[in-house]
Amino acid sequence: MICGMKLAFRCPRCEKLGHALPTAETPQLTCVHCQATWEVPQEVVEENTVTECLVCQSKDLFVRKDFPQRLGVLLVVIGLIASCYAWYRHQLFLTFGILFTTAAIDVILYLLVPDALVCYRCGAHYRRCKLRHHEGFSLETHERYRQELARQKQDNARAGGGRPPQVSETD
Ligand SMILES: [Zn+2]
Ligand SMILES: [Zn+2]
Repeated sequence: MICGMKLAFRCPRCEKLGHALPTAETPQLTCVHCQATWEVPQEVVEENTVTECLVCQSKDLFVRKDFPQRLGVLLVVIGLIASCYAWYRHQLFLTFGILFTTAAIDVILYLLVPDALVCYRCGAHYRRCKLRHHEGFSLETHERYRQELARQKQDNARAGGGRPPQVSETD
């Protein structure tokens, strides 16, 4: 493979964003911020794709257009401003030309940008990889993971809040 898969993930320990270029030979991932390391399970990375998430070992990943939404919005705004200016200058053809061009660029960009794999559980993004095993977004699966996360948070709060403060009492 000429260009490998690129992984963007949130560190499970310090929750900062990290990047990695995992291959089949990558034994472990390391967080550059807190130096946390965790093992990459064997045979999960194959031929530029993953069968499960390398960060949280979830098998549920979905395919999404890796389109930078801000860029899309920026293009539309620039197009609108430019066409308004052309309209103001009574340049009818130019006005519609600009509107048409911005719309066309948006469509072309959408077709050109590659798909990315996203993990339902931890939100890790896998770019430049093959998408054989995976399907598009499913609200059902998303909901399952959202509830799982909410439950976990509740459990954590209970475990943390229920513990009495550690004060050594000596008379
Ligand atoms: Zn970290
Ligand atoms: Zn994950």
